[in-house]
Amino acid sequence: MMNDFFISEQSRIDPLPSLYKFHTTADVLRLDLLHPVISGNKWFKLKEYLKDAQQLHKKRIITFGGAYSNHIVATAAAGKQSGLKSTGIIRGEEPPVLSQTLTDALSFGMELVFVCREDYKVKNIPAEIIDDDSYIINEGGYGVKGMNGAEAILQQTDLSAYTHIIAAVGTGTTLAGLINASEPHQKIIGIPVLKNNFSLQKEIEALLPKKKHQCITLIHDYHFSGYAKYNAELLQFMNDWYRQNKIPSDFVYTGKLFFALDDLIKKNYFPPQSKILAIHSGGLQGNRSLQKGTLIF
Ligand SMILES: *Cc1c(COP(=O)(O)O)cnc(C)c1O
Repeated sequence: MMNDFFISEQSRIDPLPSLYKFHTTADVLRLDLLHPVISGNKWFKLKEYLKDAQQLHKKRIITFGGAYSNHIVATAAAGKQSGLKSTGIIRGEEPPVLSQTLTDALSFGMELVFVCREDYKVKNIPAEIIDDDSYIINEGGYGVKGMNGAEAILQQTDLSAYTHIIAAVGTGTTLAGLINASEPHQKIIGIPVLKNNFSLQKEIEALLPKKKHQCITLIHDYHFSGYAKYNAELLQFMNDWYRQNKIPSDFVYTGKLFFALDDLIKKNYFPPQSKILAIHSGGLQGNRSLQKGTLIF
């Protein structure tokens, strides 16, 4: 039956005690707790594509990602759950030892196809794997269906009391969904995790209706030198954040998001009486690429 693979979208809202002293209310929407593998925003971005693939009677989904990609492992698990085969086009040569992320993806039945970086860049799908039964999902779930799925993040419960909503940004698909689903009094702020990603604004605009273009706010100061880059300060912050707030984060996305939130509050970015909601978009599996013991959670 259609849709019986849907997971519950009801998520918890947790407070942030470490910020009490700044007299700003900030809470976290814990999408990371929704599912052990299809974590955080990935479920929301995938669900409309999965529905579409089923309606079109497709048998296989094909998508793209790197060796540590949250999107790849989430697609593998969601594919399995929805009765679709899956193929992951993976950037770079096949390594002698697979990452845990890719090992997990294999265990969910995903077929992995490694392509060189040049072919990956142009999203070339090797001719032998594509056929009429395949449904292609963009890297990171970028696209209008991804955005429409992400709108449900703000629709699960009444979040209208929040004045600001802040989220980590990769492709911007999730941010576009948040913007679309927000109310006029709410400001949506994105923290890009890629360095100098100046095309991002345009890519988000391409998803949104024109009247929403002025609602895009991106703060480009918290990428920590680039995608999946980190330093000792970030790791220490993530450990402190966990000690004080009991909320785990990942070094690629949500660690940088929470660092930005903490820093912006300290710099009085938010007007008095603001009520901020930070979106915990999941991705904790990615921390497994760090040396054991680096993080206390
Ligand atoms: C993929 C991912 C994002 C980025 O989402 P986009 O919709 O591509 O901007 C943010 N946070 C986490 C944890 C992710 O895995």
